[in-house]
Amino acid sequence: MTSPIVVCGAGIAGMATALALAQRKQAVTLLAPHATIPAAAADAIDARVYAISPASRAFLQRLHVWDALPDARYMRVEGMDVYGDKFGRVALDAWQAAQADMAWIVESREIERVLAQALRLAGVTWIDDRCAGLGDRGVTTEKGAAIAADLIVGADGAQSPVRRFARMTHRSRSYGDTGVIVHLDAGVAHQGRACQWFLGDSVLGLLPLPDTVRGPQVSMVWSMATPRAQALLALSPEAQRDAVSAQLAAVTRNRLGTLMPNGPLHGFPLFVEQGEMIAPGVALVGDAAHRVHPLAGQGLNLGLGDVEALAEIVAARSPMQSAGDLQVLRRYRRARAEPVAAMRLATDGLYQLFATSLPPVAWLRNAGMRAVNAMPAIKRRLIDSASGK
Ligand SMILES: Cc1cc2nc3c(=O)[nH]c(=O)nc-3n(C[C@H](O)[C@H](O)[C@H](O)COP(=O)(O)OP(=O)(O)OC[C@H]3O[C@@H](n4cnc5c(N)ncnc54)[C@H](O)[C@@H]3O)c2cc1C
Repeated sequence: MTSPIVVCGAGIAGMATALALAQRKQAVTLLAPHATIPAAAADAIDARVYAISPASRAFLQRLHVWDALPDARYMRVEGMDVYGDKFGRVALDAWQAAQADMAWIVESREIERVLAQALRLAGVTWIDDRCAGLGDRGVTTEKGAAIAADLIVGADGAQSPVRRFARMTHRSRSYGDTGVIVHLDAGVAHQGRACQWFLGDSVLGLLPLPDTVRGPQVSMVWSMATPRAQALLALSPEAQRDAVSAQLAAVTRNRLGTLMPNGPLHGFPLFVEQGEMIAPGVALVGDAAHRVHPLAGQGLNLGLGDVEALAEIVAARSPMQSAGDLQVLRRYRRARAEPVAAMRLATDGLYQLFATSLPPVAWLRNAGMRAVNAMPAIKRRLIDSASGK
């Protein structure tokens, strides 16, 4: 007798997994706390926004959820300016790689809302409970239920209880840095361009957002040494505003006019993590499987890549195989090994290159950026990789 696939976790990776499997006619149940997503308010932008790559957008289109996102709630990124800590600068434009857009900045809450709607329409069972253990034939829940499952998908985030219950090996290294995020009122229109500064001791990213009644908006992700971030986070909201605005003016040289935080700062300690993606009857997707530095804005995109690969491979198995068959899961592991390792190496390598303060390296990386800026073929490749290709 076959049992359903149970997906533990209802972040974006978990909801997308359940939907992708349901659309491929797989029996699937979602096991996760059922949080109500607050209605979107005009002129209030969710604190959590993601740069969605063209590959992820195409996947969300295939899931029939992208077109349910209201146009007014996301921003197209048409180009990107990357600055080194000295004189280096690379300007990347989507048109240089024959693309209309490089990425789309979308609120986490909006993606969650359209996924939850689609799951309701697809009739997927959502059990409002938490995974509390794994047994021979399925999962046990915090409320004491036992759910039979042929395959358990751990989409339960960076602390993944499923990964722990299945005793899967997992390596984690702290960067000693914290990502400080906040949305900013900008004095000058961003014109759909993202900006990034590699400053030696920190990496600052400013992502374009839709305008509000207060005028142009950008979202800040500033990865900095944790003690510096903690000092900022400990300030009163007024002092945070003044300190961040002054530090941004010094770095950006008013490229976007005066930048002023319009809410409290949030901090996320940063890690690079990777481990086993499969165990007998278990597959991990998203942050449960890996984490990368946010400087390339690719963590969720990598997770959505896992989701699509897993759904395709599970649905394409032979009728003789169960969804949790080790051969099927090994196919999934093989499919994801290269993209996950490549993204980890690229983001970690970039981080290490710019974290070095040795003068020859600092000169070389800035001179390298200038040279790259004059080479259209290399720029095309950079745009492709910035777009998640
Ligand atoms: C500062 C910062 C900026 C970032 N910017 C970007 C970006 O621009 N683009 C991008 O692609 N990525 C970005 N990322 C990465 C992105 O945030 C993550 O990769 C993504 O949120 C992971 O989604 P997930 O669904 O795997 O995990 P989560 O969102 O953590 O979801 C896990 C879910 O599992 C549930 N859960 C936990 N325990 C249990 C249990 N026992 N049973 C059932 N359910 C459980 C939780 O309630 C939660 O809903 C950024 C990260 C940081 C820190």
